[in-house]
Amino acid sequence: TLILGIETSCDETAAAVVEDGRVVRSNVIASQHDLHERYGGVVPEIASRAHLESIEPVLRAALNEAGVKLDQIDAIAVGNRPGLIGSLVVGVSAAQSLAWATGKPLIAIDHVQAHLHAPLLTENQKPETRDQKPVFPALGFVVSGGHTSLYAMQSPSEQTLLGSTIDDAVGEAYDKAAVILQLGYPGGPAVDRAARQGNPAACDLPRSLLARDSVDFSFSGLKTALLYTVRGRPSGRGKQARFERSADDLTDPQRRDLAASFQQAVVDVLITKLNRALDHMAALGQPPHALLVGGGVSANSLLRERVAELGEKRGVTVHLPAMTYCIDNAAMIAGLAFDYHQRGEHADLDLPAIATTSLISGS
Ligand code: ATP
Ligand code: FE
Ligand code: MG
Repeated sequence: TLILGIETSCDETAAAVVEDGRVVRSNVIASQHDLHERYGGVVPEIASRAHLESIEPVLRAALNEAGVKLDQIDAIAVGNRPGLIGSLVVGVSAAQSLAWATGKPLIAIDHVQAHLHAPLLTENQKPETRDQKPVFPALGFVVSGGHTSLYAMQSPSEQTLLGSTIDDAVGEAYDKAAVILQLGYPGGPAVDRAARQGNPAACDLPRSLLARDSVDFSFSGLKTALLYTVRGRPSGRGKQARFERSADDLTDPQRRDLAASFQQAVVDVLITKLNRALDHMAALGQPPHALLVGGGVSANSLLRERVAELGEKRGVTVHLPAMTYCIDNAAMIAGLAFDYHQRGEHADLDLPAIATTSLISGS
């Protein structure tokens, strides 16, 4: 079964062809990072226009690279939630048109749920041996620009939210740390790179763990602590705040040490919460076979190392996405859609684009 996937939720225009939910036949991504760089963040109006320009060539390239014609595709899947509405509608309209013109079924996919399918994608025609081990029930962990959420997963498309962030998402915290440390945009990869050359013990930053057995997250205190460490305590509040120092005064070695200390604090928290979530699932009588991690921050070097260690210690199989599937992509959309396709869960042609996720307590 071949599924064509489309993803336009934020600032990448992407299309992919995936076979039987796992084998990636093509994965095309047109990133708009250079368009948004000088604004230091994604500008919705610019994103929407850029998707309109890229969507058709990206779709063509995905079919070409997979070596398939549109009539060989079995279904058309699109990420229709959550995201920037003006971005989502471009992908949704394209998918609706293709489904209407070809008569193929249309499948609506939640972008956040799809991030958890990314670790199960492969480019090999033969499934790897690890794929023959049972994956579900699994603990799912989304670490992205907009989400930091833990899920008990019964299947690729059925999950229960265990905990999530009460303020900033972890990727957002990385992006803000990059601004504070003047490390450039996009921030996550820049902080990670600097951190690898710094001393994680240089500066003692707080780890917010919340209540004793909480599996929720909070990163705003860490962000503020980093800001005050760099610039001193402010006098005055909000726009009136005056700081003692400027980040311009930092030396490069200091930047690297602060990045490393920040990264250490973040990953310590993530690992503590993963341990708690594994305990939670065991207590619910659902000890997970596997841990699935997805979203932009799953590209983080320290997180990948520490999660692999955790898996060994706790006896769960860890599935991390290949680097290409950590960032937003359409292969994860097409891959997850196979599960819906098999169950005959198809969408109507008037499928809406929705800005928010529905993954509050399940699917
Ligand atoms: P969501 O998926 O929640 O809707 P999004 O699609 O914007 O949000 P992703 O594209 O999945 O988020 O992830 C982007 C985030 O990942 C950014 O915040 C970026 O800084 C972060 N990120 C990317 N690489 C790394 C890295 N190596 N270390 C830490 N963070 C990273
Ligand atoms: Fe994403
Ligand atoms: Mg993105």
